[in-house]
This record gives sequence, structure tokens and C-alpha cells, in this order.
Amino acid sequence: MSFQELQLAEPLLRAIEASGYTNPTEIQRQAIPVALEGRDLMASAQTGTGKTAAFVLPALQRLQSPAPVKGRGPRVLVLTPTRELATQVQDAIKRYARFTKLRVGAIVGGVPYPAQERLLAQPLDLLVATPGRLIDHMQRKRVDFSRLELLVLDEADRMLDMGFIEPVEQIAAATPANRQTLLFSATLEGSIARLAARMLRDPVRIQV
Ligand code: AMP
Repeated sequence: MSFQELQLAEPLLRAIEASGYTNPTEIQRQAIPVALEGRDLMASAQTGTGKTAAFVLPALQRLQSPAPVKGRGPRVLVLTPTRELATQVQDAIKRYARFTKLRVGAIVGGVPYPAQERLLAQPLDLLVATPGRLIDHMQRKRVDFSRLELLVLDEADRMLDMGFIEPVEQIAAATPANRQTLLFSATLEGSIARLAARMLRDPVRIQV
């Protein structure tokens, strides 16, 4: 299967080509069609499998269509356990979105608030965040999730291990109930399965 067969928009195919990728990886082949259909999914995939593009490409594809809801808040939110991973995901988004006009921002801990507050006051298409700092901004009423269409939980097992279950659930509860949710995790058992049962609707399970 080729990237063309995944029916991605032309600016995305150009960016993929510029990255030098010839074929989708296994997780991309399995996850992208499901995500493009609008279904929720839970996928087990380790780092190095190409899992970032497996959620970034469908997210960017969705953003090729105009927002169904007016406003300036992000339409896509990616939660990651660490600031390093948030930065990596933001860099990947910038790379795949380089031939689009989409705007991406990141909200992570350990950096001053004022610049982040300015970022959140701007119109944004995608936001990548660590749960703790995002909750801080939500409590200060700086975040508008009225436009949110897609929530991605990246490395959900690590988020749970780091004690982020409450903030993750609190953030999800602040987003529209009809959103799409994609969960990526090294394991899909135990507490991850219970989290998925609360946060996903009839998810497709993918194991690579
Ligand atoms: P990830 O698992 O998302 O951390 O990605 C691991 C590495 O694979 C990253 O350096 C990506 O740039 C690269 N990558 C992602 N998708 C592909 C692909 N379809 N072909 C070749 N490399 C890829």
C-alpha cells in the first residue's frame, strides 16, 4: 500500500515525499484509514514504528476541511506525558504541515506562563500539551475547547504511570462529547483498557 492509496490531501503527500518516506509503516497502514473514517481507535505501538505520523496525518487531513464550529480554540489536541515528547510531536506536525497554513502550538511545563497565554489567545488549529500545565491554563480560563474535534492520547500508558490519569480525564471532560479520540500506548491492557472504556466510543483495536 502507498501513501497515495491512503487518500491524503496533496499538501500532505508533498510533505511526506519531502521527508523521504516511500511507504507507510504497518501502524500507519492500519491506523490511518480507521482514523480518516472518524472512528475512535486504540493502538499498541512502540516508539520507532511511525506512530506519530499515524495520528498526525489523519489530524492534518481533517483540518483540510473548514472548521464546523466557529471560534479560535484548537480543533486537534495531542496530550503527551513529557515535554520532550510534546516537542517531538510538534516538530513532526510542523514537518507534515509545512505545505499548509495550519497553526500549531505547544503547552508544556517548566516554561513561563505569559508567552503560553499569548499563544492560547491566538487562533490555533493544533495544540500539543502535557496534561499538568494544560490544566493550569484551563483553571485560569485561558483555553477554549469549543472547536475541539479530535483528541489524541500519545503514550497513554506513560501518562498513567506518571499519575496523569485525573488531569487527562478532566481535560477530556472539558472537550465536546462528539469528538473523535485516538489512543496510543505500549500496552492496551489493565488500567489502559479501563481508561479507554471511559474515554473512547466503540474503538477499533489495532496491535502491531
Ligand atoms: P515514531 O515511531 O513516530 O517516533 O517515528 C519513528 C521514526 O520513523 C521517525 O524518525 C519518523 O520520521 C520515521 N518515519 C515515520 N513514518 C515513516 C515512513 N512511512 N517511512 C519511513 N520513516 C518513517
